[in-house]
Amino acid sequence: MSSSLDARRLKEGYCLGIESTADDFAVGIVSFDGEILANVISAYSPEKGGIHPREAARHHANVAAKVIGEALERAGLKAKDLSIVAFAQGPGLGPCLRTGATAARALASYLKIPLVGVNHCIAHIEIGRKVCKVSDPVTLYVSGGNTIVTAFAGDRYRVFGETLDIAIGNCLDTFAREVGLTQKGGVPLGAMIENLAKKGKRFIPLPYTVKGMDLSFSGLLTRATQLFKDGGYRLEDLCFSLQEVAFSMLTEVTERAVAHTEKREVLLTGGVAANRRLQDMLRVMTEERGAEMYVVPKQYALDNGVMIAWTGILRYRYKGALSLSESGIRPKWRVDEVDVPWRRGERSDAS
Ligand code: AMP
Ligand code: MG
Repeated sequence: MSSSLDARRLKEGYCLGIESTADDFAVGIVSFDGEILANVISAYSPEKGGIHPREAARHHANVAAKVIGEALERAGLKAKDLSIVAFAQGPGLGPCLRTGATAARALASYLKIPLVGVNHCIAHIEIGRKVCKVSDPVTLYVSGGNTIVTAFAGDRYRVFGETLDIAIGNCLDTFAREVGLTQKGGVPLGAMIENLAKKGKRFIPLPYTVKGMDLSFSGLLTRATQLFKDGGYRLEDLCFSLQEVAFSMLTEVTERAVAHTEKREVLLTGGVAANRRLQDMLRVMTEERGAEMYVVPKQYALDNGVMIAWTGILRYRYKGALSLSESGIRPKWRVDEVDVPWRRGERSDAS
């Protein structure tokens, strides 16, 4: 397909990227030479409990036109100036993905421009590589829906470790809800746990579960919740202990991936990357190994449309556009299933 691409169009142009894998509907605009022109996010926050996929999708459908319009305005562009439209094709929640895909298809077909499907997890890595100026990291991607340790090896992003059950962000959020915390003033539940943990003084042993290179957080969540409900423990101490155990598990698996791949960079991304305690633990580990640690800035570490636009450009250069029949959503799309032609030919000894 790439031979049919008009190379001239790739020098000048703009990609609009749509992210809608979970609770955020986000739009980013990036120029083909890599300039970030707009990053607009509309977050859906449920009044009670976790994300309800259909309600989140309804939110996305309601705000889509407004968020796209706002992104164009911030970029100083008109819709007709766009050259391609990219969207997060997966992985994610079906109804949410479908809403983003529908908006992207409609926009691309109305403007008669190419449509590109992007893997959400790979987009997190690619925007991290770009904004942190990192070339070949081991990436720890920790968010509300994902927990993955991945690195490029043998022409693909390989999964070195991942959660066997719930994601770390989900573990923190569920614990927060179980102990009665509610989201206020846009402060994420994970950040509330972090603040309470700072006042923790006593370590309470909790289940530490690493199986091979994979992680499990559900036993840890159940035990921490049970101890809170039984009473007799300060919430601050439980938050502190929960963080110490969960983040040690993440650091252990990341360290083993660094040792195995012999890579010299570690990239931390996803919503949970904002946590200072996790950053500190990883920093100590990377320093001991003579590697460098990079934390993706929040606006590009959270789910965002910029990462979709940027990865859309990379992908379009090598793979061209999707046909309409290829544009169905892929809710369980794994990173190691994705061809990464823009990194082809890079030397990698860890395959
Ligand atoms: P994302 O799924 O990438 O949009 O990120 C959302 C997740 O990040 C939620 O689970 C939040 O609770 C979590 N999060 C945000 N800030 C922090 C923090 N400071 N510490 C731990 N988790 C956080
Ligand atoms: Mg999110």
